[in-house]
Amino acid sequence: MNLRIPGPIPVPDDILDAMSEPMINHRGPQFKEILYRVTDRLKQVFQTKSDVYILTSSGTGAMEAAVVNTLSPDDHVLNVSVGVFGERFGIIASTFGAKVTELSFPMGKAIEVGKLRQALSAQPDIEAVLVTHNETSTGVTNDLAAVAQVVKGEFDKLLLVDGISSVCSLPVQTDAWQCDVIATASQKGWMLPPGLAFLSFSERAWEAHQRARMPRFYFDVSAYQRYLEIGQPPYTPSVSTMFALDLALEQILTEGLGSLFERHATIGQMTRDGIRGLGLDLFPDESVASNTVTAVKVPEGVDSALLLAQMREDHEVVLGGGQQSLNGKIFRIGHMGRCTPEDIQDVLDGLAAVLPRVGFRSATVGATGG
Ligand code: PMP
Repeated sequence: MNLRIPGPIPVPDDILDAMSEPMINHRGPQFKEILYRVTDRLKQVFQTKSDVYILTSSGTGAMEAAVVNTLSPDDHVLNVSVGVFGERFGIIASTFGAKVTELSFPMGKAIEVGKLRQALSAQPDIEAVLVTHNETSTGVTNDLAAVAQVVKGEFDKLLLVDGISSVCSLPVQTDAWQCDVIATASQKGWMLPPGLAFLSFSERAWEAHQRARMPRFYFDVSAYQRYLEIGQPPYTPSVSTMFALDLALEQILTEGLGSLFERHATIGQMTRDGIRGLGLDLFPDESVASNTVTAVKVPEGVDSALLLAQMREDHEVVLGGGQQSLNGKIFRIGHMGRCTPEDIQDVLDGLAAVLPRVGFRSATVGATGG
């Protein structure tokens, strides 16, 4: 099966094999060695000198951790959203009592920094800005460096980032861009099964943490920090996924971040070119289209459920559908991790064969015999 949803992504066999190692004592010396090694390497990928914490949870847990560790009920936060996951960040903050002002951009569009600047000038009591780097639901990458320049450089607010489908696939410079907290999750570019989430935490985030009064227990970063000092996780970790993380990080850093980012940019471009070559339209503007997930408009007259079912059944290609209001309107192709040009060609060939059978009429597909 060619699993081309935007996470979980295919896990290479050698990394899967690493997970079948026998359990070890998570409070023993072997685990301590792994924890220190992977923490050091995670910091390299995040490009931060601060510690990065490993949570046993999905990405949403790390988003919750970002919020509850830095904010108090009634804090005014600006949630800058361009899609479903952006909305979720705001919902988490309001669930814990924050006063959330939404700055939303239409689906398929990226954040306009001018509007962000306006919102921050108009509301000086805003404490923190919540932002999604790569919006997986619409296939849009926001310009995080530009967003951070406004949030930090111009207004000096706390900046909490959902980097779930960007860190380890797209360039992210945690310290240079002054991102205070970035959350990400193992089932994306890290080439791991779901189950681990990673959280960077700046000095400014620690200052906010001292004052933050939102309720927290499992996700309280001070416990993770205290235990990291003695080389242990605060709670029983996903030991097998830690073995896998250890190997994945070795491979990621051996390849080098520069070449990893370039590989993702190339595969993203190949996907977009191939989609247009089939006569299909990208959902987002090309200038903000993501190099980890491509969102494609479902053409007029095509039943997306049938399209995805035929891709799965006849071509063994699993694509993602649209979420919530985008259900039936777009489909998504994930290309994070060790995705090869052959994997994408396989998707494009499958689409070329299936599209004419599900009602698509295009000169391009027709010309190739569809
Ligand atoms: N934010 C983004 C940008 C995501 O892509 C996802 C997962 N698709 C999430 C948040 C939620 O993560 P999880 O499903 O791991 O909780």
